[in-house]
Amino acid sequence: MNFEELGIEDRLLRAITEMGFEKPMPVQEQVLPLLLTHETDLVALAQTGTGKTAAFGLPAIQRLDLQSPATEVLILSPTRELCLQIAKDLKQYSKYVDGCSVVAVYGGASIDVQKKEVQKGAKIIVATPGRIHDMVRRRFVDLSQVKVTVLDEADEMLDMGFKDDLDAILEQTPDTKNTWLFSATMPDEVARIAKGYMNNPQEITVGTRNSGAQNVKHCYYLVQAKDRYLALKRIADYNPNIYAIIFCRTRTETQEVATALIRDGYNADALHGDLSQPQRDHVMNRFRCKNLQMLVATDVAARGLDVSNLTHVINYNLPDEIEVYTHRSGRTGRADKTGISIAIVNLREKHKIKKIEAIIKKKFEQLPIPTGMEVCQKQFFNMIHRVEHVDVNYDEINPFIGEVVKQLEWMDKEELIRRFVSIEFNRFLEYYRNAPDLNVKEKEERKAIEKKAKSTVHDDSGMARLIINLGYKDKIQPQRLIGMINDRCRDTKIKIGKIDISELFTYIDVDGNYANDIIEAFHGESYRGRPLIVQAAKSKRKDKDERRREEKEFRKQRNEHQQRNSHDDYPRSHKKDKKRPDERSRGDRKKHR
Ligand code: AMP
Repeated sequence: MNFEELGIEDRLLRAITEMGFEKPMPVQEQVLPLLLTHETDLVALAQTGTGKTAAFGLPAIQRLDLQSPATEVLILSPTRELCLQIAKDLKQYSKYVDGCSVVAVYGGASIDVQKKEVQKGAKIIVATPGRIHDMVRRRFVDLSQVKVTVLDEADEMLDMGFKDDLDAILEQTPDTKNTWLFSATMPDEVARIAKGYMNNPQEITVGTRNSGAQNVKHCYYLVQAKDRYLALKRIADYNPNIYAIIFCRTRTETQEVATALIRDGYNADALHGDLSQPQRDHVMNRFRCKNLQMLVATDVAARGLDVSNLTHVINYNLPDEIEVYTHRSGRTGRADKTGISIAIVNLREKHKIKKIEAIIKKKFEQLPIPTGMEVCQKQFFNMIHRVEHVDVNYDEINPFIGEVVKQLEWMDKEELIRRFVSIEFNRFLEYYRNAPDLNVKEKEERKAIEKKAKSTVHDDSGMARLIINLGYKDKIQPQRLIGMINDRCRDTKIKIGKIDISELFTYIDVDGNYANDIIEAFHGESYRGRPLIVQAAKSKRKDKDERRREEKEFRKQRNEHQQRNSHDDYPRSHKKDKKRPDERSRGDRKKHR
């Protein structure tokens, strides 16, 4: 069916045809006939990028009574960016509808200006919950004639803690209104809202419930935690035309990864809550117009960033709440394009992949991290591709060509190509020559973990003792150790007992049920560049001789481990005069790219 057959009136048809909407998208096919002909509540499960703005926007406009000056439609969205995007779309749809005023109301801009705009007349208000609540409290808006409320990205609004604002705002709207709720996922809280705010809502699901977008391929790379950043760089180098959001868990991590990427010469920047609004706008604009290839962001900061042609979404760390993965991956593969969602995981996090698969009802593919040579090959062919497709300014180049051809006459074509490509490529080859294999040999690693965990000693109260190669020489404090454990085992609450710090080691008593989890969580991690070892302690705390023996053995092991790991990295000969890819300065990298 086309838009006309679905019941869209002429003046809207004209506008959307001009916008390039030829045929309805699935969510529009389902939602439009219902909302155009029935006064009903609606719960629609649809991902961002599926065309849901038009699915609620077109009926909202078509149902307006343009004779009355009252505000009749209130659309709530979680972020300022999304709010502005929706308002912009609605203004475009209603281009030929006289008297259809759309006003956006959001935080971070003058409330007085917004008050004036609303009071001039707003048939439709698109708002973020915090700001509209404020305006309601100050009686700047009158919501008593509202006929339709749209809760867009309801799951995100709840995630961001807007529940109380939503309650207060909806209280001001008449009971007779219709509520249309759009959400990408259906966690319990959204289901409760649907029940609380709505009357017998019609339910519509586009695609599978809680599923990821259909044209997204999901894959993961298994690495040691310490190699996460190197793996990210490999992925970026292996995909020279990457245009991606890299999701991190915290603001600090976001900033660290972005700073490292910038230092290494990539077109990247950070987007997180510590930036001011103008700084955020600046970064987002640079990313939107592709001045940035990679945006490193927290989940909250990336909300509302509407970019539809990402090649990749990268989970630098998987989110704590698995539902969040759906939002992240849904940012690629939009509007009929294909996209790749990548997770960089360590052994301990691998089980999360299974959980996500169950939610998105799709399988992940485990991919090997490309070797240095594979990266080089990819870059090489990319360079050749660029040579093939570069715009040549014949008029300006031709005057010099004769002389140059003469000078290079002695070379055949192949030699010429070799030389031209080498100008850019040599540095790349040097950096990646001898680059280590970052892939985790899963079986061997599991064995190593089992060995460390084998002899956990439990006491009567069920506590087990662990030993870690950090001591007061490393300026380690009990609080810091507890923090490190909590940080790595964030999905479990672990009881921690006595912490006994000596010069080079620390004994820690932990809940025996989680001792092995902790050992696994620390496996492959490093502290200030030094490999961390956490393993089951063999000795009881009071037994001095046994403890001395253990310390001696552990010291030996610590030294061996350190030696082994320094070889695991880039070989020394390579290090001496050639920096590792992650040590390259911006200037180096630019030359090499
Ligand atoms: P949304 O999910 O509303 O953010 O829409 C995602 C993108 O698809 C936006 O850029 C819309 O302008 C575009 N879009 C929505 N409906 C259609 C359609 N029927 N045909 C072509 N593009 C559309």
